[in-house]
Amino acid sequence: MAGTILLTGAAGFIGSHFAERLISRGHDVIGLDLFDAFYDPAIKEANVRRIRDLGGSFTLIRGDIRDGELLRELPDSIDSIVHLAARAGVRPSIADPLLYTDVNVRGTQELLHLADQRGIRRFVFASSSSVYGNNEKVPFSEDDRVDHPISPYAATKKAGELICHAASHLQGMDCICLRFFTVYGPRQRPDLAIRKFARKVLTGEPIPRFGDGSTARDYTFINDIVDGIESALAWTSRVGSSGGAGRFEVVNLGESRTITLNRMIQVVGEVFDRIPHVEEHPEQPGDVARTFADVSRARDLLDYAPNTEFEDGMRIFAEWYLREGARQDGVV
Ligand code: NAD
Repeated sequence: MAGTILLTGAAGFIGSHFAERLISRGHDVIGLDLFDAFYDPAIKEANVRRIRDLGGSFTLIRGDIRDGELLRELPDSIDSIVHLAARAGVRPSIADPLLYTDVNVRGTQELLHLADQRGIRRFVFASSSSVYGNNEKVPFSEDDRVDHPISPYAATKKAGELICHAASHLQGMDCICLRFFTVYGPRQRPDLAIRKFARKVLTGEPIPRFGDGSTARDYTFINDIVDGIESALAWTSRVGSSGGAGRFEVVNLGESRTITLNRMIQVVGEVFDRIPHVEEHPEQPGDVARTFADVSRARDLLDYAPNTEFEDGMRIFAEWYLREGARQDGVV
């Protein structure tokens, strides 16, 4: 792959890890990020410093994916787009659905338009397991119906997949939508439960548990997600080189193992060697009962082989948190 890769959301949790991977492979990367205030932008600045420390070909553009004029000024050398920028998070999307739709749907459409104007044929889109809503059937497979999202965030991700499909069909673009299942590991977003609970267990505050703790998540370690995104980008090159009409795929990236909320809280206690104190709350609207990925399509198409046990990934997360994350979160 010779061209430049446009990576949106490069300063974020997953984006910064993926930027590091691309640079370590010798790619030219343009990172586009707004450094929005969804969480402390200083954390994103620290993420970018780590990318720059690698010393590769990384250009950062501070800007908005919804800014069509800025997109038009991007270098001609871009031949692939990995689109990770978004307003993430289920609960805040209920408070501000207009913003979520604007960034996640209109922003994605702007990038698809850029691809159309430039003849960019490779597009990777970050979707989410939340599109499955309260899917009864487990594990969740890409052929299951996903017409019943239960939060604005989930609806924007499904909408993103749909507009990607239309663009792939009309523009002859090879496009792959990756449904990430709750990603964790070093530099995890501070709004996500594991990191919130880490802070609380270290400060001795009670851990808020919504519901009876039987809800379950397929937690995916960041390195496995990064492997999956890298393979997805390689897939767009592989199918593109065979010519013809644009290919479109939707693929789950999870660990294919579920962990209950109660077990997650227990493991947080174990890795920090503390006893968690749980404070009970009613279930939250928008939260799904469980997520559980069928990863057979990822295995077949991308040679995806997630191999991080939750307990091992959490030990790596805890080492990082004690070294860096705790300071960022004001835990002295
Ligand atoms: P993140 O918030 O850390 O990263 C997103 C980045 O996008 C941020 O740095 C933010 O500043 C940037 N951004 C937001 N709006 C922008 C805009 N208008 N223009 C340019 N940049 C903008 O989130 P993350 O956890 O790294 O998630 C990355 C992607 O993966 C998102 O699309 C998210 O919806 C998706 N996803 C994440 C998870 C997870 O568990 N972390 C699960 C499923 C899907």
